[in-house]
Amino acid sequence: MSPTVCLTFDFDAISLWIARGQVTPGPVSRGEFGAYAIGRILDLLGRHSVPSTFFIPGHTLETYPAQCSAVAAAGHEIALHGYAHEPVSTLDRDAELAVNRRSAALIEELTGAPPAGHRTPSWDFTDNTIEILGELGVEYDSSLMGTDFEPYFARSGDFNDPDRAYRFGAASSIVELPVSWTLDDYPHLEYLRLPQGVMPGLQDADAMFERFLRDVRYMTETVPDGVVTVTLHPQVVGRGARMAALERFVVGCRALGVAFERCVDVARRFRPVLEGR
Ligand SMILES: [Zn+2]
Repeated sequence: MSPTVCLTFDFDAISLWIARGQVTPGPVSRGEFGAYAIGRILDLLGRHSVPSTFFIPGHTLETYPAQCSAVAAAGHEIALHGYAHEPVSTLDRDAELAVNRRSAALIEELTGAPPAGHRTPSWDFTDNTIEILGELGVEYDSSLMGTDFEPYFARSGDFNDPDRAYRFGAASSIVELPVSWTLDDYPHLEYLRLPQGVMPGLQDADAMFERFLRDVRYMTETVPDGVVTVTLHPQVVGRGARMAALERFVVGCRALGVAFERCVDVARRFRPVLEGR
């Protein structure tokens, strides 16, 4: 197996700002930009034959049906990402299940098949998440950070008593494709002023992708059949010259002998490997 990069796009659009309660025209327009950038992202992926996975909230599926159809028509995977980008730790079990059911139905309506994959909004997670994904027939998740380049079966039923050693739950049948803030364009590039403080962002996109590429190179040297999951946002990476930096990253990955795959294909390839361990 060759080393793999999963280039993933969280197409949050306006839902990201709704989740923060920022619904005045300014923040809404920042979300809108994500939909505006979809065309140029699909163009880049098409020119370089990069299959990709788009994690799309139900709210975006309903607000931007044409852009979501274009993503699906180009052969990219569409996977779960909440309805209105709800932080799942604010939801009880029934609400978390309902949000995912509703969004799964929207994905099935668009693609003709239920979603195989899931990523929690903002990588928030609950004790119920894995069980809910199992109930919905989801095959993989991409929200946790337990490894960097090696997929694993996510656990459920962990127990934490701060007075004793941590008790690990059992492995589930959900394949985890691990993520990291270090491989996410959002904290690197996006400028945010929140009541809790300022997230400066606005770093040089080429410098960010060079850091990403160093991780890809390290993987090819240390885990030759590994997977790097890169998380991008159309409303962030789609802006101006950042797209040219993304293109240089794609070319740089190919020069390292890396294959690009959709998350669903990687999860299905790794399942028998993990079951055999
Ligand atoms: Zn998101």
